[in-house]
Amino acid sequence: MPKAATATVDGAAGRPGSRELIRLEQVTKRFGDNTVLDRLDFSVDAGKHVTLIGPSGSGKTTILRLLMTLTKPDEGTITVDGEQLFPAPEKRCREVRKKIGMVFQQFNLFPNMTVLRNITEAPVTVLGLPRQEAEARARELLDLVGLADKCDVRPTQLSGGQQQRVAIARALAMRPRVLLLDEVTSALDPELVAGVLDLLRDIARSTDITMLCVTHEMSFARDISDQVLMFDSGRVIESGPPEKLFGDPDHERTREFLSAVL
Ligand code: ADP
Repeated sequence: MPKAATATVDGAAGRPGSRELIRLEQVTKRFGDNTVLDRLDFSVDAGKHVTLIGPSGSGKTTILRLLMTLTKPDEGTITVDGEQLFPAPEKRCREVRKKIGMVFQQFNLFPNMTVLRNITEAPVTVLGLPRQEAEARARELLDLVGLADKCDVRPTQLSGGQQQRVAIARALAMRPRVLLLDEVTSALDPELVAGVLDLLRDIARSTDITMLCVTHEMSFARDISDQVLMFDSGRVIESGPPEKLFGDPDHERTREFLSAVL
C-alpha cells in the first residue's frame, strides 16, 4: 500500500499570519476494491490558488467532489473554514457546504431556466436572499463575465464558452469562500478556451477567493497558482510553487507527466 501523502500550501500549517481554509486529514476514499485516495493530508490557506495536476484517474476530481459533499470519504476528516465538513451531521454539513462553489467540466446548468434564473436560484432558495437582491447581484455577475445581454435566454442558446461563463457567475453568486474548478475548459471548443481562462485569471487577480483547480491547462496553472500539487495514484507525490514544479521538478514521475502534456 502506498504511504500517506502530505502537502501544505506554502508549508503553511502554523505559519504566522496564515489562515487555513481547507484541511484534509488522512482521507481515504475507495470505490469497491479501488483505493482512489489513500490517507491523504493536505491543506489550503485562505486566499490561495492551488492547482492539482496529474494523470487521469489519479484522484483529483474525487477531492473536489468530496469537498462539494457529492461523495463521502471512507475515513479521515475534512475541515472547511474551521468547521468540520466530514464527519458531520447533515445539517452542519449543509451549512459548511454553502461556503464552497464549484464549476464543472460539463457546465451543469439548469436547461429549463433562463440564464438569470440559473444564477438566482440557489441564492434565493438556499441562502434565502430576496429575489430582487439576487437578481441585482446576478446582473452584476453577468456583466463581470461579459454576458450582460443574455439574462433572458436559455443555456442551450449559448455557446459552450458562454455557458461556462454563466456557470462561473452562478458559482460566484453564492459568495463562496472557496471556488472549485474541475477541468472547466475540457469540454470547450479550442477557440473558446482562452476567453474562459482569461476570465478566471481576472477573478483570481481581483478577488480574495480561495481557488482549488483541477486542470490540464499548464500555462493557466503556472499563471494563477500559488502552489501546484502533482498527483499520482491518489497521492501527492510532489508540491511546490509553479516555478519550481514546472521549471525544476524533483520527481521523475512529474518530469514524465510534464513532458507528455507540455
Ligand atoms: P482524476 O480526476 O485524477 O482523473 P478521478 O478522481 O476522476 O481522477 O478518479 C479516480 C479514480 O476513481 C478512477 O479510477 C475512477 O475510475 C474512480 N472513480 C471515480 N468516481 C467513481 C465512481 N463514482 N464509481 C467508481 N469509481 C470511480
